[in-house]
Amino acid sequence: MGLGDSLEWASQLAAQAFERLAKERMPPSPENYTLWYVYYSGENPDLTRTVDVIIREEGKISPSKFEDLFRRFFSFDAEAQVVREAGERTQSALTRVLDMLSAAGADAGRYKDALSEFRIGLDEPVTIDQMRVMIGEIAAETRVIADEHAKLQGHLSETSKQLAAMRARLQTARREAMTDGLTGINNRKAFDETLAVAAQDAVHQNEPMCLLMVDIDHFKKFNDTHGHLVGDHVLKLVARVLTECIKGRDTAARYGGEEFGIILPQTSLTNAVVVANHIRTTVGSRQIINRARNENFGNITLSIGAAQYRQGEPPADLVQRADAALYSAKRTGRNRVCAESAETDRPAS
Ligand code: GH3
Ligand code: MG
Ligand code: MG
Repeated sequence: MGLGDSLEWASQLAAQAFERLAKERMPPSPENYTLWYVYYSGENPDLTRTVDVIIREEGKISPSKFEDLFRRFFSFDAEAQVVREAGERTQSALTRVLDMLSAAGADAGRYKDALSEFRIGLDEPVTIDQMRVMIGEIAAETRVIADEHAKLQGHLSETSKQLAAMRARLQTARREAMTDGLTGINNRKAFDETLAVAAQDAVHQNEPMCLLMVDIDHFKKFNDTHGHLVGDHVLKLVARVLTECIKGRDTAARYGGEEFGIILPQTSLTNAVVVANHIRTTVGSRQIINRARNENFGNITLSIGAAQYRQGEPPADLVQRADAALYSAKRTGRNRVCAESAETDRPAS
């Protein structure tokens, strides 16, 4: 399908959506509009079926039911919302600039092209990174046109500043989307992305790369005995120790629950085991203390599995081998490091 087709198709859906909004006497809010648009597009058969069933059974669809449907089918995550907001603001800033340029009789050909490309980009789902690139390009165009039209410089440089602020906001949003809320270290999403890049780098640079999977021992019991809040405190402590025990190019992330992953580029399996043991002994030596109440909860221990990347394998295979090694560490007594091996059962320490 060509671009012309997709624009035509989108316009047709938009017209149908607006007609339906009018017929149902619904306010044309973005949510209501989106629901009808997607309904007519048929791209979400589940949504179309649900709406059809409600109308068949109840004759019409109430505003509150529509709200429920929107939440159910379009629960935008924080990331998508930021992108959407940035897109809308950028678009209105650009439209303003275009108006100013045409009022000044300036030839804004290139700028118009940049704007329409931006609009096309927004028709597709866009990630924060893609949005940052797009806004960067538009900002560059804005600077060029500002240079060409000295008279408009004031307004244009204001727009330029707004675009820069938006990029900074996207940068912050990206960081937040990659950070674990409790511990403040990388989250699972960041882990997956970093591991994929580390695997590619290991191939390109022909260097070893290792992964540690770290799991707190008997953490359920610890939680049950001392409460979830103390458990949360322990997770933060472990995250802090992991960060302290690794070097610049290494990445520690919360993999999920009480499990952490550590990516060690340019590291042999032997050295990965050394790092793992350093982490294990450091955590094991810390007392968990509530200073305010002068309580000592003793210490916790870690089991760690280590595996080395095999050139060209999918990163998930590496995770699986490190997990298997972790399982061996658990099975052979906990509070230990196991490296993958032909017989993974043998503890490495
Ligand atoms: P094992 O030594 O075999 O790993 O035993 P375990 O008890 O650590 O493992 P299990 O998987 O049975 O339990 C994991 C526990 O981790 C259960 C859950 O209460 C706790 N946990 C997971 N996420 C969090 C969290 O965010 N906060 C707190 N406080 N506890 C968590
Ligand atoms: Mg555990
Ligand atoms: Mg676990």
